[in-house]
Amino acid sequence: MNKKLLFFVSLVLIGLLHRAQEAPVKALVGGTLIDGYGSDPIQNSVIIIQGERILAVGNQDNTPVPNNAEVISTEGMSVLPGLWDMHVHTMINGHADYDYWDKTYPPLFEDVIMPASAHQLLMAGVTSARDLGAPLEASIAVRDAINSGKIPGATLYVSGPFIQHKPYPGTEDFRWGVDGPEDGKRKIQKLAKAGVDVIKLIDQDQMTMAELKAVVDEAHKYNLKVVAHGHRPEEIRRGLQVGVDCFEHTGLSSAPAYPEDVMEMIRERTAQMNLGPLFWCPTVEGLYNYKYVRDNPEKLDNDSWHLGLPDSVVTDIRNSIKHPDQLPYFQLTPIRKPTLRTKIRQLMDAGVVLLVGTDSGIPMKFHSQSTWNELDVWVNEFGIDPMYAIRAATYWPALWMGVSDDVGTITPGKYADIIAVNGDVLRYISLLQDVDMVIKRGTRYK
Ligand SMILES: [Zn+2]
Repeated sequence: MNKKLLFFVSLVLIGLLHRAQEAPVKALVGGTLIDGYGSDPIQNSVIIIQGERILAVGNQDNTPVPNNAEVISTEGMSVLPGLWDMHVHTMINGHADYDYWDKTYPPLFEDVIMPASAHQLLMAGVTSARDLGAPLEASIAVRDAINSGKIPGATLYVSGPFIQHKPYPGTEDFRWGVDGPEDGKRKIQKLAKAGVDVIKLIDQDQMTMAELKAVVDEAHKYNLKVVAHGHRPEEIRRGLQVGVDCFEHTGLSSAPAYPEDVMEMIRERTAQMNLGPLFWCPTVEGLYNYKYVRDNPEKLDNDSWHLGLPDSVVTDIRNSIKHPDQLPYFQLTPIRKPTLRTKIRQLMDAGVVLLVGTDSGIPMKFHSQSTWNELDVWVNEFGIDPMYAIRAATYWPALWMGVSDDVGTITPGKYADIIAVNGDVLRYISLLQDVDMVIKRGTRYK
């Protein structure tokens, strides 16, 4: 190595060391750690954070706390990776009338509505979220503002506009229609060049197979995964044929169960180990809890969902949900509700890996509350193992998103996205409705 180069390398190394030494050190000490991998929790855990990242993980016997560390006691708490919500809509905030919302609020999406949603998610312990379906520029701008630290919020992985057969009138800003395979390719290229993280496909049973294949193949060319609706059997059949990477929803069909031919296709897909797991984001809580919320509207008065929203918008949303029993969105829900448990069971039995996602933002479903409710329904209503549910909100989403080197588990080297809550979440999952500590990339927000 020549001398000049050596000199420069030394300078850079000294600089890096210096910065690492300067980065503030935090130590989370005493709590029960659920690291996201699914093994037994670590009692009396110690997590050392330096700057944005985790430096060491262990227990009080084997992991010394550095002298310069700010010690944060997690005694009596469950400590776990920041949650992921794999299906949120930051452009909506629980208002009951989509037509009205889409006419009234787009001018506020980028600066008010979407940042408020992302902030509410964060304060609920959701440090990462997949945001599916919103205007392109606003999605990118809000995501980047959060990533650069300009505004607080969950780290967002955005799709920009929905890709579908034809947008409903007045929604062209966040719904892009596809007219032929070439047009489909062009739309995907445009999204890829703008920097989206994922493609969101809906109503794919209304597109031609050629269009559908063009869209999915083009997305994969750009290394973008495709999320697609799985409401109707034909959406699932077609989605499987063209190789979509994750299905969404289980609920909007009233059929009591998935038809056998669809289950056969799903089982064939999950048997193909070389393709990795088949992922599914069932988004059950909105439908499952509708009747409860309708009959216990006090729940809607919890003001956690006001965070970041102007009073006028809060009042507007409140008025729209004054009569929960009359909302058109939910009129079929009582018929659909009993089918949810059956379908979830079918998917799990077929080897599908479920991801936690909520459709947060739909009528009466606030970003500050959706995610824990989903976990609660899985565990307390469907009998799903709480460790499975937590991994479906931590480890698996990070892996799916392709960022598992950086997030998803509490592991040295990864970003310090960590939450803690008083009590034992493996015994009482609903404790997650009020997390006591939220740390994202080493910064404490709660
Ligand atoms: Zn949705």
